[in-house]
Amino acid sequence: MTKDKYTELVKEIDYHMNRYYNEDAPEISDYEYDQLMLQLKAAEAEHPEWITPDSPTQKIGGTAKREAGVKVEHHVPMLSIEDVFTKEDVVAWVHKVHAVHPDAKFSVEQKIDGLSMSLRYRKNGDALQLELAETRGDGLIGEDVTANAMVIPDVQKQLNLPFDYLELRGEVYMSHEDFEHYNETQEKAGKKLAANPRNLAAGTLRQLDSKITAERGLRMFIFNVQDGPLDFMSQHGEALKQLEEAGVPTVPYRICSTAEEVCDAIDEIGEMRGELDYDIDGAVVKIDHTQWRDEFEAGSKYSSGHIAYKYPPEEKVIEIDRIIVDVGRTGKLTFTGEFHDPNTGKPARLCGTSVSRATLHNQDYIREMQIGVGGHYKLFKSGEIIPKLNGCVKTPKEIFEAPKVCPVCGEPLIREEDTADIRCVNPSCPAQTVRTISYFTSRDAMNIMGLGETLVEALVSNGYLKTYADIYDLKNYRDELVDKGIIGKDKNTDKLLGEIEKSKENAPERLLTGLGIRNVGKTTAKTMIRHFHSFDAITSASLSDLMRVDDIGEISAKAIYDFFHEKQNQEIIDRLRNAGLTMEEVDASIDDRFAGKTFVITGTLTNMKRQEAAALIENHGGKVTGSVSKKTDYLLAGENAGSKLTKANDLGVAVITEDDLQTMLES
Ligand SMILES: [Zn+2]
Repeated sequence: MTKDKYTELVKEIDYHMNRYYNEDAPEISDYEYDQLMLQLKAAEAEHPEWITPDSPTQKIGGTAKREAGVKVEHHVPMLSIEDVFTKEDVVAWVHKVHAVHPDAKFSVEQKIDGLSMSLRYRKNGDALQLELAETRGDGLIGEDVTANAMVIPDVQKQLNLPFDYLELRGEVYMSHEDFEHYNETQEKAGKKLAANPRNLAAGTLRQLDSKITAERGLRMFIFNVQDGPLDFMSQHGEALKQLEEAGVPTVPYRICSTAEEVCDAIDEIGEMRGELDYDIDGAVVKIDHTQWRDEFEAGSKYSSGHIAYKYPPEEKVIEIDRIIVDVGRTGKLTFTGEFHDPNTGKPARLCGTSVSRATLHNQDYIREMQIGVGGHYKLFKSGEIIPKLNGCVKTPKEIFEAPKVCPVCGEPLIREEDTADIRCVNPSCPAQTVRTISYFTSRDAMNIMGLGETLVEALVSNGYLKTYADIYDLKNYRDELVDKGIIGKDKNTDKLLGEIEKSKENAPERLLTGLGIRNVGKTTAKTMIRHFHSFDAITSASLSDLMRVDDIGEISAKAIYDFFHEKQNQEIIDRLRNAGLTMEEVDASIDDRFAGKTFVITGTLTNMKRQEAAALIENHGGKVTGSVSKKTDYLLAGENAGSKLTKANDLGVAVITEDDLQTMLES
């Protein structure tokens, strides 16, 4: 991995971390997130010198950006539980414990899918008083959420137990009912929906205003005694029973003596999980005799004497109600199936979320899967955010056929050769206008905050936007926009117009990305700007000039060439230029002083890496090749230069040192 890729990965993870922890609106699945983290860890293992305190590996997820949060060091670490995925593993583990303690008993419990919280109680008069509530954080340090815990009815503020001190751990969660109620309210208000009950519960518990926490309705089950009198703690099941008698909502548990009983209890939880009013993500098996737990360690991150059984992916049968055909930004048709669970008449409940839509990819997939309205299909979701159909159970009366004309503009559609894609190629198709403009304003491109797809759509349908160049004319209609309230009142309108003005300063690669040229994403755009330095140079480049750029293939080169040679696009670019957008690389250290010169680098450089030297040369218009020839202008030679140095001397090629290169750059 290159340093650039690494930096990009850090940014990407930061973005998703923020979506997950601070905005409670994840865009990718936990699995995908874990994969990104694994890549990052691998890169850091290889290049420890890249790690900074800002790296996501160095931060505590949930508390990274909450300045308002008061951090608390846990008395007892709040660890995770090691997962097992087969019954054989469960049986093997039970046998391992029984080999040492033949009379060991186990508690089998639902693993509630929420977030962990510890409660500290201290004696005050005759009773125990809630003193502190803390989130899990990274397991060692959490966040003080006492004010919010106080408004959760399940959290006992006082406990009538004859102890001096007690620390309980449990799971805070949200019921399906409260979750759906929240999303319905949000939808009516046109606001963002929560992804799943767990994320909403997390966001709610970490609210700064406990009034909001109280309104949304959190619940809690206690599942462990973290600290307290030894004789009380030693038998886990007994302790839960006493807590229950004292009015504490405890997690449903079953005490088992044999591996067979443990497996039965796991199955029982598995069978009921669809009917529970909350989500669970497994079953926990704990050694009931708490002092024995430490003998069965599972690694420093995990609780000793615990395992968590993960159920295989859930599958549901659904019935297709409707097939929605949409036109994407590039004109490509997309197909989405809308469905319900015929058993409940509602969206399917799967892995903790309500699902009512799945992508149907393309016409070939639709035909192969025999998809049509009224058909029944298996649906699965294995920890992924995107649900997939998995086979037809009951065929529909008719298999769905893609339309022949664009559902948005009515122009005939084209089926592309060699692909399964169907496209609308009408350049003035309004569907593409909204998407094209939204892409232009998106985070990867011009990053105009507040100008998202919904607002773009409103501005397009009110006639203010036809192309992205019109964005920069919006300021001429300020008062009109305020009157109509399309963006909002004065304040919001001015804020957005300010963001638009600010975007003019963006680096030119952002603008190039935003143009939406096929195959030109942000990486290609960056490469292009590094190579050509300006839009002018790109516009006047020939097709072969474009193909000479590293990592630009024939298809991309052609797409870029065609784009810049179309009259309509040229007019748009001119308008953007007149509006004052940045179309030249701004870095003053970059110029063309090495234009037409060819360099070869050899030996070990002391102040920089070879790639860095190559980048310096290329950024100043020079070319770097691998072997010395008559055409070579300079050989940059470091220590222990070998045959290339000899050859350069033979051919009379100028040999320079790193210092010479620096001098050439500074003059
Ligand atoms: Zn169309």
